[in-house]
Amino acid sequence: MPTFKLPDMDTLRRKMREVKLALNDDNKKKEDEHVSASGIKCPSCENVFEKKELGKLKICPKCARYFRLNSKERIRSIADEGSFKELDSTLQAKNPLDFPDYEEKIAKMQEKTGLKDAVVTGVCTIGGEKTVLGVMDSGFMMASMGSVVGEKLTRAFEYATEHKLPIIIFACSGGARMQEGIVSLMQMAKVSAAAARHSKAGLLYITVLTDPTTGGVTASFAMLGDIIISEHKALIGFAGRRVIEGTIKQKLPDEFQTAEFQLEHGFVDLIVTREEMPIKLRDILRLHSGRKDGAE
Ligand SMILES: [Zn+2]
Repeated sequence: MPTFKLPDMDTLRRKMREVKLALNDDNKKKEDEHVSASGIKCPSCENVFEKKELGKLKICPKCARYFRLNSKERIRSIADEGSFKELDSTLQAKNPLDFPDYEEKIAKMQEKTGLKDAVVTGVCTIGGEKTVLGVMDSGFMMASMGSVVGEKLTRAFEYATEHKLPIIIFACSGGARMQEGIVSLMQMAKVSAAAARHSKAGLLYITVLTDPTTGGVTASFAMLGDIIISEHKALIGFAGRRVIEGTIKQKLPDEFQTAEFQLEHGFVDLIVTREEMPIKLRDILRLHSGRKDGAE
């Protein structure tokens, strides 16, 4: 019988650090490509703009490419002014696996983004329709799903179920948070179970997939919406292109894993522009509220 020897803790830690350094380098390179002293370079049309030229919805004035919105910008673009009340704003991550440098990383991210973790949840109105809203933020560790993201979303579903409210989640994520290992994978089942209880109560769940929605988030709650909306050109998938091509030994089509491709193949119900999003959401909420138009 061949035996498998587990590497010792020091070797594991060293390997983790190597992976982390490589990832940091990669991210830094990507950022440098798009932000220079003179402004923001559009990765699609390669024109350089000042930040304010992109406007509140952060759309390239030349080629209409969508830049990523952070959670604050997203909420502002969707909710009625002043209506958003945050839930569970103080939850923050522990380091369950004693992963090297995880606490420092979290502290740094909190300082940079002003967020405690990668999702903001709350209650708001959209065109006067009351709803629970969850918005993931790619600026915080690429919106990876750890225990806090899972717990906040679960509580948001439970709040919606208890108060008989619909829920809308703006998803984006690089996947599960590797620093929390199995604890982060558990969140997939936990959030999905809360979504199922909300659904069993006959309540509406809408997901809006934004760039990028991948990994464990796609494999759980992001694809469980009664209605699945996407922004155009958003990357939506589970594993990355290289991994799949390497596994099936075939070249994938260029548009593979775009919102448009997923719409054509039935994973996405509709693609909505940023300008239209609040109106479309309001109409869907109103349609499902069971009220006659205008009546309380
Ligand atoms: Zn452009």
